[in-house]
Amino acid sequence: MDQLELSLRLQTIADYVPEGSRMADIGSDHALLPVVLAAAGRIAHAVAGEVNEGPYQSALRQVRKRGLESLISVRRGDGLTVLERGEADVIVIAGMGGALICRILEEGKDRLEGVRRLVLQPNVAEDQVRRWLKENGWMLVNESIVEEDGHFYEIMAAAREAEGKKHGDSLYGELKLPCGLVLKEDMLLKFGPLLVRSPNPVFLRKWTLEADKLEKICKQIEQSAAESARSRLHSLREEVRQIREVTQCLQVDKR
Ligand code: SAM
Repeated sequence: MDQLELSLRLQTIADYVPEGSRMADIGSDHALLPVVLAAAGRIAHAVAGEVNEGPYQSALRQVRKRGLESLISVRRGDGLTVLERGEADVIVIAGMGGALICRILEEGKDRLEGVRRLVLQPNVAEDQVRRWLKENGWMLVNESIVEEDGHFYEIMAAAREAEGKKHGDSLYGELKLPCGLVLKEDMLLKFGPLLVRSPNPVFLRKWTLEADKLEKICKQIEQSAAESARSRLHSLREEVRQIREVTQCLQVDKR
């Protein structure tokens, strides 16, 4: 049988799933992540949840083909509704927009009982996911950024805040970078409070390219006569300025 391999993105997600977990992979598609983890003996059990029929069938096929039915339960349903309370201790939600991930977590709050870790990989709107975690008693314990096939992916792992301790305050309180630049909460939500504290070349590349892209949009708008487009110009230029300031500061700090 063909050997299944995880992409760098999925492998980074897999690395954040603790050994022996009872995991749920919500929006599992082909169930690749739970299949590889179960086949390697890395997890005790998995639920692969899918809302759409096509991916649900493909997950079922994959699990049967590998003979992993006793370890992976494939279920069709929206978000966390596929879970019984207390059934999973780790939940992975990856490869969707940040707004959808927040919606799934918000609507499934009662199924988060007993969950000790969330592993989330929003394709966009990462700041929204960080804000949801912060406002709902989850502390970021790891963040990674990887580049694959021309896309950048941010992967976050969060654990429950200890009783009575607001870790968010220390993660999102004003951060003074060695170059002197001060980052406030909105910037930390955007860049990632852990990523910005140890920026790697992928992080710097993502934000340099993002600023280049926004700058191009600014130039197009400058040439456009539409008043509605021009009203965006000010905020876009401000965004470019902020991103450049942060990336330049972090590059100076790394020298
Ligand atoms: N998690 C896999 C990964 O990261 O490679 C698959 C990502 S795939 C792009 C997103 C999957 O999420 C799709 O298969 C889609 O059907 C599923 N999905 C979207 N909304 C969902 C929801 N509300 N509940 C469960 N699954 C959902």
